[in-house]
Amino acid sequence: MSSPSSSSASSSSTDLTRMTAADLATRIHSGEVSSVEVAQAHLDRIGAVDGDVHAFLHVSGESALSQAAAVDAARANGDTLGPLAGVPLALKDVLVQKGVPTTAGSKILEGWLPPYDATVTTKLIEAGIVILGKTNMDEFAMGSSTENSAYGPTRNPWDLDRIPGGSGGGSAAALAAFEAPLAIGTDTGGSIRQPASVTGTVGAKPTYGGVSRYGVIALASSLDQVGPCARTVLDTALLHEVIAGHDPRDSTSIPQPVPQVVAAVRRGQNEDLSGVRIGVVKQLHSDAYQSGVLSSFDQAVEKFTALGAEIVEVDCPHFEAALAAYYLILPSECSSNLARFDAMRYGLRVGDTGGASAEEVMMATRGAGFGPEVKRRIILGAYALSAGYYDAYYGSAQKVRTLIRQDFEKAYLAADVLISPASPVTAFPIGEKVNDPMAMYLNDLATIPGSLAGIPAMSVPSGLAADTGLPVGLQIMGPALGEEQMYRVAAAFEAAYVAEHGGVVADSAPALATAEVTR
Ligand code: GLN
Repeated sequence: MSSPSSSSASSSSTDLTRMTAADLATRIHSGEVSSVEVAQAHLDRIGAVDGDVHAFLHVSGESALSQAAAVDAARANGDTLGPLAGVPLALKDVLVQKGVPTTAGSKILEGWLPPYDATVTTKLIEAGIVILGKTNMDEFAMGSSTENSAYGPTRNPWDLDRIPGGSGGGSAAALAAFEAPLAIGTDTGGSIRQPASVTGTVGAKPTYGGVSRYGVIALASSLDQVGPCARTVLDTALLHEVIAGHDPRDSTSIPQPVPQVVAAVRRGQNEDLSGVRIGVVKQLHSDAYQSGVLSSFDQAVEKFTALGAEIVEVDCPHFEAALAAYYLILPSECSSNLARFDAMRYGLRVGDTGGASAEEVMMATRGAGFGPEVKRRIILGAYALSAGYYDAYYGSAQKVRTLIRQDFEKAYLAADVLISPASPVTAFPIGEKVNDPMAMYLNDLATIPGSLAGIPAMSVPSGLAADTGLPVGLQIMGPALGEEQMYRVAAAFEAAYVAEHGGVVADSAPALATAEVTR
């Protein structure tokens, strides 16, 4: 396959990687640039910076270029193109793509080639979106820093010595490093929203069941949700509409039409927020949060007032127990889900010598293939589910979950959307919390309540923290199926930020030392 842009000026490649997905799509559709040029520019950028960032576990250069060429051919043929046709994307390595290595960040899946596409993968390909590769993540999506990846950490493009969040740190870092304008994440307790928050990007967790989980390697099935990530709210909404919708292959998928989030974003960009009630959750504003995060949040509240919204304080007393409930429910579900990695069906097999029994091979493979955090949660979960403990642990956690859902229901009587910081802290140094599980779990303080309730929630950059100079994310939570009002509010907030600063937060991400290196 030829590479048309590699001979053209390096500056044009750089420019294409700075554009939004919406801009790129417009230019591709009008013929101003080809999809192949756009894909090549991003592959060049990955080649230049990913040695430092390590957002990708696998780059699918050849298939990306041939997918792009197919979009260019379809355009030349006069075919109708989808709104994001020809635009590149980074896919979290927990979604399967036929024939492309998929590891979920684990050694236990090393060498496994999935024989099928996830429904989301199929939808992306059918929309003409060009898949650049698979992104790094905490092993089986357990973590908040991407340091639990068996393949080494991803680095935050804002400061390469810091974490990009997790578990979807690879997808978020790929966006912040301008390696891709679009990415897919998954969010079980915050793995889309917290990485978005600490990298100055946007990420949305749809209502539970809003996007198919078919072909997504399961962590905790009652919580897992796939969602869109990008550098702007509009790009996130455009991607949301591509991946959402009912899928008969996922029994938890909701039989609802795709939410009209792009129209909601246009409305948010063009209208103020008068008549919109925004609830500030009392329990998600405390001294557990970094002062620079709280001051950015307080400024966001002022911005909403200036936009005409009505601010109300809401009380959600059971949120205090959310983390404890989550760390019983998640390990319980994952200990059962991860039983399928038994050395027989997928990837790694260790100790398969002539005389070894199946059980011995299974034990040796799971011992060698799973990392410490995964083992910790499997053990915790097996314990919480065991006879005699089930009611005390898993049963109680489920009751707390109901109380949290009821807190949300009550809050949404007083407010149309709820807001909080998305992450209690800005990006912390690599190594700081990796040996302290409790400190790591606390990163999900603000995101977990929404996960337990199954509501839609997103993180939108609210600026840079006054104390650390690093990005802060604002969490906007809607009621179940309330994606449209959530996106409208996010878009209005982002538009106000852009009017004040001349661009979105990600536009001011550091260029990275190697960024000028082009082919
Ligand atoms: N950080 C949380 C955890 O470790 C969330 C993970 C996720 O959303 N996949 O469980």
